[in-house]
Amino acid sequence: MAQAQNFLDQGLWDLASAHAGLVLIAHDFGVSIRGDRLRREEEETSREALQAACEAWSQALDGHVRFHVVDEPNLADLRFVFRPDVRLGREAVAGLTSWSRKLHTDGTRVQSAVYRADISVRSRWLDRTSLPFDPVRQEIEHELGHVLGLDDNFQVDRIMGKLDLRQPVSNPAPEEASTLKELRSSAEKIRQIAESHLHQIH
Ligand SMILES: [Zn+2]
Repeated sequence: MAQAQNFLDQGLWDLASAHAGLVLIAHDFGVSIRGDRLRREEEETSREALQAACEAWSQALDGHVRFHVVDEPNLADLRFVFRPDVRLGREAVAGLTSWSRKLHTDGTRVQSAVYRADISVRSRWLDRTSLPFDPVRQEIEHELGHVLGLDDNFQVDRIMGKLDLRQPVSNPAPEEASTLKELRSSAEKIRQIAESHLHQIH
């Protein structure tokens, strides 16, 4: 959201529109999933937890957001990779989301640019035993919360709170859902402003 607003402030209307559009008001996200050096039960846990996490957000947002599985990672909006260990620098973290631009070309010309999220999720405790379903689901829901526009917060009983892997939270809190609904409507306004500028230029 901050990024879409930044682009808008800088007069980068196409970027603001693309970012607000994909990130904040997209209705249907293509999701790909890959396991990197996982045990077989971890592969299963990550697939099931991903499905449950997507359903939890869809429900919390009254079905306005949906997710569907895409086999080809290059065609996905959200690319999940599950790994035994995820680090931010040297620090062990539960998950990480990074954004990149995806350019659609027709051979040589760029047709459009959209945003794509690469999401890494941890599959093991620090002692290398496999994480069970519940904490993995919270990790995924937490990263999806970032994708949808939410920031971290400091309450332990929130999806966007600090992850306590031993006391996982299963669903977004009503306040988290309502914050997102408000964010999505302001994103819609950003996109409208950006689009109106785009139309004046072209
Ligand atoms: Zn976070």
